[in-house]
Amino acid sequence: MNYQDWRSAFNRLALSLGLAGVVGWSIGYTGWAVALTLGAILGWQWFQLYKMQQWLLRQKSTEPPESSGIWGAVFDDIYHLQRRQQKSQDRLKAVLTRIQDGTAALKDGVLMANGQGNLEWWNHAATQLLGLKETQDVGQPITNLVREPEFKRYFEMANYDEPFEMASPTQHETYLQFHITLFSQQDRLIICRDISRMKQLEAMRQDFVANASHELSTPLTVISGYLETFLDHKESLPSRWGRALKQMHQQSLRMQNLIHDLLTLSRLENGQVKDHAKVNIKSMLSNLQQDAIALSGQKKQIIELEAEAVDMIGIDSELSSAFSNLIFNAVKYTQAQGTIRIHWWSNESGLHLSIKDNGIGIDSPHIPRLTERFYRADPSRHSETGGTGLGLAIVKHILLRHDGHLEVHSSLGKGSSFTCHFPSTRKAQAERLLA
Ligand code: ADP
Repeated sequence: MNYQDWRSAFNRLALSLGLAGVVGWSIGYTGWAVALTLGAILGWQWFQLYKMQQWLLRQKSTEPPESSGIWGAVFDDIYHLQRRQQKSQDRLKAVLTRIQDGTAALKDGVLMANGQGNLEWWNHAATQLLGLKETQDVGQPITNLVREPEFKRYFEMANYDEPFEMASPTQHETYLQFHITLFSQQDRLIICRDISRMKQLEAMRQDFVANASHELSTPLTVISGYLETFLDHKESLPSRWGRALKQMHQQSLRMQNLIHDLLTLSRLENGQVKDHAKVNIKSMLSNLQQDAIALSGQKKQIIELEAEAVDMIGIDSELSSAFSNLIFNAVKYTQAQGTIRIHWWSNESGLHLSIKDNGIGIDSPHIPRLTERFYRADPSRHSETGGTGLGLAIVKHILLRHDGHLEVHSSLGKGSSFTCHFPSTRKAQAERLLA
C-alpha cells in the first residue's frame, strides 16, 4: 500500500462528504446528509473488517476477499506477506527434512537433549541402540532412559573431553561409545556409536598377548633354571663358556621380567574387578623402602621416607606394584650415593605420593611418552638396567583403576620427580562411599 492509495482514499472520503453536504444543503438537511454518509462509510469499514477476520480464520493461503481502495490494498499486502512466509517455511521444512533424512540414514545414534538433560530429538539408530520409544520418551531425562549409574555420573559431570563406553542396554554383547558436545545454553548433542567390533579386536589382541606370554613363561623358567644350574658348576665347564652362559642367564631373566610385566598389563586391561579395601600405605612404603635399600646394594644411595598415617581405599597388590615400579626406577636411574625421597601425604585435594631422585633425569621430549608400552627414554643408556619399558605403562593403568593420575617432572642430569595423585574419595574414611 503506497502514498497514492492513501491519497485517493482521502480524496474519495472528501468527495463523498462534500457531495453529501451539497445535496443536504440543497434539500435543507445538511447535518443529516453528512451524518448518514458518515454512517454508511463506517458500516462499510465494519463490513470490510468482518470480511478480513473471516478470511484470516479460514486457511491462510486462500485467495483474499474482493475489495477496492485501501481495503483491497490491505488484503493484497497481507496475502503477499503470507505467501512469502509460507515459502520460507516450506524452504526451512525441506532443509529440516533433508537433515533428518541424513541423520536417520546414519548408523550412529544422534540425540539432542536440553539444558535439563531432557531428550528433545533423536534418530532411528539411537532408537535401536538405546531402546527408546519414539513417542513416549520425548521430554524424558536421558538418565532415566539409559539407566546406568556410571553414565548418569558422566552425563552430569559435564566434562566430556573423554568419550564414555558401556554395554548396550538392549543388545547382548554390544558395546556403545558416547561422545557428548555442549552447545547453545548447556544443550547437549550426543553421538552414540556401536564399538563392539573394536572391542572384539581389542579383546583378541589382549587374549593373544596374555596367551603367548603365558605359554612362553614355562619354557623360559626351564631354560633359566638349567642355565642357573650350569652357572653353579661353571668350574667344570670350558672357561670360554662361562661368559656366554652368564649373558644367556641375564637375558633369560630379562625375558622373564618382560613376560611377568606383559601378564600384569593384560590382567589390568581385562579389568577384572577386585574388591577395593583399606590399604595401609605407610607400612607398604616402609617395606618398599627396605626392598629399595637392598636393590641399591653397592650403590649405597640415600633412600628417605616421609609418610603420613593416612590409609587409602584400593587394591593392595596393585598399589604395591605401581609404587614399587616408581621407587625401583628411581634406584635404577640414580647414580651411586644419590638421594631418593619418598613422600606420602594428604590434603584437601586428595592423596599424593611423590618419589624424587637426583639421578640421571629425562630429557623433556620423552616425558609425555614415558607411559607408552616399551617406551624407553634412551635405550642405549639403559641397556644395563635390564628394564622392560612396561613399568610406567603398568603404573598408569593401576592409577587409572584407582581414579588417579601420574605427574612427571624431570630435567636431564638433575633428577626426576614422579607424583601419583588420588582423589579425596580414596581416603580410608570414605570407604562407605566406594562400597
Ligand atoms: P623400564 O623398564 O625401562 O624402566 P619404565 O616404563 O619403568 O621402563 O620406564 C620407562 C623409561 O622412563 C625408562 O626406560 C627410563 O628411561 C625412564 N625413567 C623412568 N623412571 C626414571 C627415573 N626415575 N629417572 C630417569 N629416567 C627414568
